[in-house]
Amino acid sequence: MLNKILKDANTIAIGGHIRPDGDCVGSCIGLYQYIKDNYKDKKADVYLEEFPESFRCLKAAEEIHHEIPDGVNYDLFICLDCGDKERLGFSGHLFDTARRTYCIDHHISNAGFAQEDYIVPDASSTSELVYNLLEEEKVSLDTATALYLGIVHDTGVFQYSCAAPSTFRIAAKLLEKGVDGPKIIQDTFYEKTYAQNQILGRALLESILFMDKTCIASYITKKTMDFYGVGVKDLEGIVSQLRVTKGVEVAIFMYETDTNIYKVSLRSKDQIDVSRIAKYFGGGGHKRAAGLTMAGTYYDVINNLSERIEVQMESLAGRQEKRYI
Ligand code: AMP
Ligand code: MN
Ligand code: MN
Repeated sequence: MLNKILKDANTIAIGGHIRPDGDCVGSCIGLYQYIKDNYKDKKADVYLEEFPESFRCLKAAEEIHHEIPDGVNYDLFICLDCGDKERLGFSGHLFDTARRTYCIDHHISNAGFAQEDYIVPDASSTSELVYNLLEEEKVSLDTATALYLGIVHDTGVFQYSCAAPSTFRIAAKLLEKGVDGPKIIQDTFYEKTYAQNQILGRALLESILFMDKTCIASYITKKTMDFYGVGVKDLEGIVSQLRVTKGVEVAIFMYETDTNIYKVSLRSKDQIDVSRIAKYFGGGGHKRAAGLTMAGTYYDVINNLSERIEVQMESLAGRQEKRYI
C-alpha cells in the first residue's frame, strides 16, 4: 500500500526511464496526481525527459520537470517503469542523493536496484501496478486518465498477451471514473502526424525479411530523420507495425543515434523471448518487447541479433521434435 511506501517521506521525487513511453509517463503522472490529491502535506515532483506531444493531454504533464534545479534532494525517490539505474538518465542523480529509494516496475530484466521494490514481470504495465497500490475511492479522474493511458500503450490497446483479466478489470474501473477511453486511444496511440506516417512508410518500404521470412528488420538513419524533419519520438509504433507482418515471429527496428550506433527495438509474437536477446547485448525489457543499443553497421547488428534468434529458434524446434518422439 502507498501509505507504507510514503511513510516518513515529506518530499518525493518520481522518475522513469529515458525516452519516456506511454506507460512511463502515465504511471508517473498517475502516481503524482494521486499524491497531490490525497497527501496535501507532502510535496511530490516528477522528473522525466521530453516526451511525445500527444501525452500533453494529461493535465499534470505541464508540471513535469525536465531538468534538476540546483541543490534539491528528496526524502524518497520512486522510480517507475525503469528496469535499471542507468535508464533513469538525468534523474539518476536524485536517486543517488535520496534518503530512500523505491521501484515499481514490470521489466523481467529488473534485478532490483532500489532499496525496496514492487516488481511483477508478468504485469501488463507499471500503470497497472501503481493502480494496485491505490485506494479505489481516492482515485480522481485525472489519475485514472493517466493510468488508463499507460495501460493502453503497454498493451497495444489491450492486444498483447500481457493484457490479463486483471488488466481489463482495472481498465473497467478506470472507465467508471469517467475516463474518455476512445479519445485517449485515438489521440495518444493511433493518431500520427503526416511526417510520422511518412517515416513509418519509409521504414516499411525498406524492410527486409530473413531467416525463412520469420524475421523482419528495418532501420532509419539520422540523415533520413533529418530529411523528413522527425525526431526519435516520431518513430514510436514502427516496430509494432513490422511485427504484425504475416508469418513473422520477430521484428527488429533500429534508428541511428550516432554514426554506427543504433537504438534497437525488438518485438516477438508468441515464442521468442526477446528480453533474453536484448539482455545478452546489454539491454533489457520484456519477453515480447525489449530494447538495446548496439554498435556497428545495420548489417552487423542484424547478423549479431540473428545469431541469438537462431539459438532460440533451434532450441524451440528441438523441444518440439522431442514432443513427437
Ligand atoms: P522500446 O523498444 O524502446 O520501446 O523498448 C521495449 C521495452 O524494453 C520497454 O519496456 C523498454 O523499457 C525496454 N528497454 C528498451 N531499451 C532498453 C535498454 N537499453 N535496457 C533495458 N530495457 C530496455
Ligand atoms: Mn516503458
Ligand atoms: Mn512499461
